[in-house]
Amino acid sequence: MDPAEVEKSIKNIDPLPDGKSYECMFCKRVISGKYNLKIHIRTHTGYKPLHCNICNHSWRDPSNFNKHLIRHGVRKSRYNCSICSKIFIRKGDFKKHMQAKHLDAHNDEMIARSTPKRKHHVRR
Ligand SMILES: [Zn+2]
Ligand SMILES: [Zn+2]
Ligand SMILES: [Zn+2]
Repeated sequence: MDPAEVEKSIKNIDPLPDGKSYECMFCKRVISGKYNLKIHIRTHTGYKPLHCNICNHSWRDPSNFNKHLIRHGVRKSRYNCSICSKIFIRKGDFKKHMQAKHLDAHNDEMIARSTPKRKHHVRR
């Protein structure tokens, strides 16, 4: 079976009665959200459409791929922890990390420094 075809067929899968969960056709696991199902099914098909040109690795999960590119320095990290240098793609994850791991060090100044300033810079 062509993994790309499998992914296309995910579009036609109907959700479970709760309207947001989907059953994996391979292992019958219930996954919340179609996007998560798509990533999950890649673990069965071995489909890794994201390819790193620098080290020739392939990735199936876009968030891992982004983190990987950030490590290469190809992509800029928007949120990285100045204390343990962990990288975050989403602001919410970063905030959660700061609160959970570095509660003592956590202050607004640090978050402000890691947040891109968009006030005076409007992209066309
Ligand atoms: Zn599965
Ligand atoms: Zn790489
Ligand atoms: Zn940290």
